[in-house]
Amino acid sequence: MQVVVIDDTLITARLIAEYLKKIGGVDPIIFTDPEEGLRYCMDNEIDLLMVDYMMPKMNGLDVIRSYREQRSKEEFPIVMVTAMEERDVLRQAFEAGANDFVPKPLEPVELIARAQSLLTLRARTVELRRMATIDFLTNVFIRRYFMEVAEREVVRCKRYGQPLTLCMLDVDHFKHVNDSYGHAAGDEVLKFIAEKCMESLREPDSIGRLGGEEFAICLPETSADEAQAVAKRCHKAIEDASIDVGDGESVQVTVSIGLAQWSEGETLDDVLRRADRALYKAKEAGRNKVVIAACF
Ligand code: GH3
Ligand code: MG
Ligand code: MG
Repeated sequence: MQVVVIDDTLITARLIAEYLKKIGGVDPIIFTDPEEGLRYCMDNEIDLLMVDYMMPKMNGLDVIRSYREQRSKEEFPIVMVTAMEERDVLRQAFEAGANDFVPKPLEPVELIARAQSLLTLRARTVELRRMATIDFLTNVFIRRYFMEVAEREVVRCKRYGQPLTLCMLDVDHFKHVNDSYGHAAGDEVLKFIAEKCMESLREPDSIGRLGGEEFAICLPETSADEAQAVAKRCHKAIEDASIDVGDGESVQVTVSIGLAQWSEGETLDDVLRRADRALYKAKEAGRNKVVIAACF
């Protein structure tokens, strides 16, 4: 787990880090410059921050406030390290979004116990969040989360006058794969398809499993023509592959893809519906095809 210690006194920072190392899987990163530490926390996935109160330039309260102002309270837990007599500071620390405090002089048993319980809670939160957003089988977004992300992207592209294209992908004759090779083989095929699609996507793109053997892909800042190139790449990679489904068997499948570019005035559901209709046309025209929906 990723723990950060910010303390302007190097000896204290090192001592805290030594105590924390007693917790399995923890190897803390130390910062004596609070601004540097804060920047690190903003740019990286952190599981716990231990921050000193008394520091020049920027004290512990400033660090907590700056972080919590920009990120939600559901992000990683923060522990303030401070002398017991600073009662008012404690109140302010909790108000600013600290989750706990450790008094000075440092008592290892207490420090470790407090850090440990926050880290356990953090691990559970991360796992729950993963379960609420990621499809267990294919590792792509689940339907609800995909819709949330795509909705945000539609708003963003609209604001900046950028194009956005949505693709609907459905495996051809997938029932036949299950019937001929078994459900477990079908699962392997779904995993493979998700992997191949992800390989073809860029950073701002997202992919979700809408249900069964149907996936949706959101391509921000991408016109239908550009999206067609991406879709064809996915399509071909799947068509060309011989998918290993265990027991020395391999399966070949094709997919049909429908795409639609967002037009002014449309909701996310509107675009998805048009992409779905294009997908239906691809199926009707004999499957194994990429079809672009006509402009709205
Ligand atoms: P089409 O080309 O028209 O899309 O035909 P299809 O056979 O792919 O479509 P259909 O909707 O008839 O069948 C989809 C099948 O997908 C039926 C269902 O049992 C299977 N399926 C849905 N979810 C899963 C899953 O998680 N794992 C596996 N192995 N099969 C699944
Ligand atoms: Mg299908
Ligand atoms: Mg289907």
